[in-house]
Amino acid sequence: MICMKKTIYPKLFLGYLLFGILGFVVVSTITSHLMLDYVKSKEASNLYKEANLIASDYAVSYYSNNITLTDFEDRLKALDVYLASQIWVVDTGGDILVNSRKKTDLFNLENISDFNIGDFQHKYYQTGYFYKYFEDEQLSVYAPISINYKVKGYIIIHKPLHMLLSYNNGIIKIAYLTLLILFLCAFVLLAIFTYTIILPVKKIAKAASEYASGKFDHPVDIHTNDEIGYLAASLTYMANELNTLEEDQRKFVSNVSHDFRSPLTSVKGYVEAMLDGTIPVENQEKYLKIILFETERLNKLTAGLLELNQYNLRGTLLDISTFDINNTIKLTVQTFEGICKNKRITFELILTGQTLFTCADMGKIQRVIYNLIDNAIKFSHSDSVITIETTVKNEKIFVAVKDKGIGIPKESLGKIWERFYKTDLSRGKDKKGTGLGLAIVKEIIQSHKENINVISTEGVGTEFIFSLPLYQPEDD
Ligand code: ATP
Ligand code: MG
Repeated sequence: MICMKKTIYPKLFLGYLLFGILGFVVVSTITSHLMLDYVKSKEASNLYKEANLIASDYAVSYYSNNITLTDFEDRLKALDVYLASQIWVVDTGGDILVNSRKKTDLFNLENISDFNIGDFQHKYYQTGYFYKYFEDEQLSVYAPISINYKVKGYIIIHKPLHMLLSYNNGIIKIAYLTLLILFLCAFVLLAIFTYTIILPVKKIAKAASEYASGKFDHPVDIHTNDEIGYLAASLTYMANELNTLEEDQRKFVSNVSHDFRSPLTSVKGYVEAMLDGTIPVENQEKYLKIILFETERLNKLTAGLLELNQYNLRGTLLDISTFDINNTIKLTVQTFEGICKNKRITFELILTGQTLFTCADMGKIQRVIYNLIDNAIKFSHSDSVITIETTVKNEKIFVAVKDKGIGIPKESLGKIWERFYKTDLSRGKDKKGTGLGLAIVKEIIQSHKENINVISTEGVGTEFIFSLPLYQPEDD
């Protein structure tokens, strides 16, 4: 008994959990980081556009005294509200000329110590506390104010980073939600997978182990039309085959035993009777003849079984040669001359051509013809004709052996090829028969990859026809 200790399921489930955890880690680190970068640069580029607009429009107007400071301040304040950001105008020295959040005092300007526009490092934005001016981190974007190709100062816009973060968190939440949906989808997938593959495979494994322990009737109730269903069907089929094989073997052994026991019992009985004088010496010849008959039968049975056993070995070696089948038939018929004379049976040979060559194992084909003629004679009435015919059709030779004998009942037609099978009709007629003759014939024809058929009508006659390859010599 094979027992399954480990199943695939925990592995799958672990894989599933790992997928979830990895997904979570990826979203919370990489995705969130990339997203923040994206949001920052997007916002920076927006603010940069605004800063440039202010620098090229309002600031220039202010510098060229086209608008008053108050006007300028008002416009910046409006933009401050619109952008939710502080807007500064800073001169090159770091003095904050205008701050959208404070009233400008031109005589007491705030100065950013260490201000150096180079600190932006070729980028138009940076994040941080902006020279420690702010308590919380800012996204700071700058744009130069140029008048007559000279940088007079800068527009700097500051937006608190936490505003971007909260925006970013909103997006991350969507990402988490998506992940959760994906995770649930994967769970559905896992469930489908479990129902369509794991459970059926478990059933199949269980059935296989039942079969291994000889319980061939264990059902596998999987009736799907996919690979698993096919596997289950194949397994059931295999179990059935094994079952019948086992049954065949049991039947075979009981048949053999039976066929050996009855002649042995009668031989034993007669010998005992002779020894203890029940059969007087003058009558002994008759019983010795019976004993001889029975031993001959046993001999035949043993020889037949040995022969069949040989064919049953896989890949029976055939001794293929080219020979004239017409000639083989004539030679085989001759061996029956003695018996035929007694029974007044005649042969009619209808052979195609002077010679008819085939490629096969001559010895074994001779055995086939012998067994068929033997049956035809055994089951024919006296004074009848047995016809043997060879025909050629579609590059095949067909050999037919036809008698006008007792025939085979319809219900027996399928069974005559089985070992030991004899029809009830024939039992009375032929006591010596073993029922192995046709089984041997079938094995030989099958090992040649050819076919044999029987046509029979009870009380009318029987015809056996088998095919052989036609030998066609190359023309050149
Ligand atoms: P063995 O061949 O060993 O002498 P057998 O002839 O009885 O024994 P098979 O040749 O295998 O065995 O034939 C099986 C059975 O098929 C026969 O017993 C007989 O009932 C039936 N059978 C075979 N050939 C004929 C035939 N030509 N006419 C009528 N019945 C036949
Ligand atoms: Mg026979």
